[in-house]
Amino acid sequence: MEEDQHSHSFDLSGGVLCLDFANTWSDRGRPDTDHLREYSDLLAFARQTGALRGNEEDRLAGRAAGDPQAAAAALAQACDLREDLYRIFSAITASRAPADSDLERLNAALPEAFSRLRLQSRGGDLVWAWAAPDDPLEAPLWPILRSAAELLTSEERKQVRECAGTACTWLFLDRSRNRSRRWCSMESCGNRAKARRHYRRRSETDKDQARSSAGGGTSG
Ligand SMILES: [Zn+2]
Repeated sequence: MEEDQHSHSFDLSGGVLCLDFANTWSDRGRPDTDHLREYSDLLAFARQTGALRGNEEDRLAGRAAGDPQAAAAALAQACDLREDLYRIFSAITASRAPADSDLERLNAALPEAFSRLRLQSRGGDLVWAWAAPDDPLEAPLWPILRSAAELLTSEERKQVRECAGTACTWLFLDRSRNRSRRWCSMESCGNRAKARRHYRRRSETDKDQARSSAGGGTSG
């Protein structure tokens, strides 16, 4: 599928589909950093994460164009799921149990997704595939739901972290050897934090110098 010049290029540093999805809202305090604004954004995310097969994207885009109301409902469902997943994983990163209401919402969405799973023969192997002959607009959410259910029930959930950057709510799977990754990415939050530390050291040094020159008195 050709790259769409107009769609947002999603940062997939979460390491797992469901976390990358939670990260489609960069900074939860700021609506302008929400990258799921149109149904086409959801399709772009699904394409960039490899969740769409063949010409599925074109078919879903066609359906969305023909029924904007249904597309808006599917997008709203996607955003609800995203915030649900964010709260659940954020609780886990803080060693808290997810809220019952959040788990209930996730559980309510699982049956539809899992009822679409099929075993399919591909190149001599059997693989999981999604049966969607009717092209439902919610189809891009199914792999995300499955990814979330799998991560939540695996040992790897203990390696989910929330970025240590101020005002950054990004989640990621810490696969670093000594489990010491702190930032969603070194380029953004890591470097910002380094710059802040540097600035703090500088201003403390400046204060020390100001103090010592004040304490040193005016000789002469
Ligand atoms: Zn960050």
